[in-house]
Amino acid sequence: MAVVESEQLTTQEVQVLIENERLRGENEALKGENRDLQIALSTTAQHGDVIELELHETNQKLKAEVVERQRAQATLQALIELISQQKQDLEVIVQTIMEHGDVLDTQWHQKLHEATLLATYDGLTQIANRRRFDDYLEQQWKQMARERSPLAILLCDIDHFKEYNDTYGHLAGDDCLKQVAQTLFRSLKRPSDLVARYGGEEFVVILPQTNLEGALKVAELVQMAIQQLQVTHAQSPVTSHITLSIGVASTISLPQKPATTLLDMTDRALYLAKQRGRNQIVY
Ligand code: GH3
Ligand code: MG
Ligand code: MG
Repeated sequence: MAVVESEQLTTQEVQVLIENERLRGENEALKGENRDLQIALSTTAQHGDVIELELHETNQKLKAEVVERQRAQATLQALIELISQQKQDLEVIVQTIMEHGDVLDTQWHQKLHEATLLATYDGLTQIANRRRFDDYLEQQWKQMARERSPLAILLCDIDHFKEYNDTYGHLAGDDCLKQVAQTLFRSLKRPSDLVARYGGEEFVVILPQTNLEGALKVAELVQMAIQQLQVTHAQSPVTSHITLSIGVASTISLPQKPATTLLDMTDRALYLAKQRGRNQIVY
């Protein structure tokens, strides 16, 4: 019966049914979309504040970053300006050095010369100091070994100098040391001879290419020159003026032995000169 009925539906009616079916489907789809929108709307309404806060924070962070970058850029700019200023200064210095190189070179050599003098000379007595003596002895010890020539040393010590200071004062003592040093200096004849302040009131003389005989002659000359100075030393148990005790030694240096070998010999001789009553030469 139903088949009969369906067979009786006209084409128009079938089309209406199909259209009806399609509309119902669309209606269902729209309902679904509507539900989704409702859900989305309610979610947005629920989380709206949070999202707005996050957006605000992000915005703030971005603003802070922009400020920070601007600051870094300003610092960088200042640095670049400083460096370029320093570069200009350096260029001026280089230019000056190039233009006045000769003058600076001379000044530099003068300063070097002054510094060398200061490092090797004794300020009080204006003769070579102990350091210069050590260097020169080492140098001559080797040189004489090569030449197979004798090297001589005189070690001179002012007698009873402590009493001199005690009697006339330290300043007068200083003055006496200057006089003795300059007298020793003037007594030497060869350019290779060297007199140095060995320490306190002791002086040392290096005589290259000099045997014992020659060294003793120099020692006698020195002793005479000091005597002629006639620096009064009223308290001296030896004489009424300043005197020296002198130890002398000379040897052909051996490269395998240290230079101090000769110095030790001189020191022992001086010790004997003191022991034997001072104001004398012992070798
Ligand atoms: P000796 O005859 O045994 O050598 O006796 P001395 O008194 O000379 O020797 P001593 O070592 O007892 O004393 C050395 C003196 O030299 C003591 C010290 O005050 C003095 N003296 C050392 N250096 C200087 C100085 O630069 N200036 C002065 N004024 N005196 C000095
Ligand atoms: Mg002494
Ligand atoms: Mg002395």
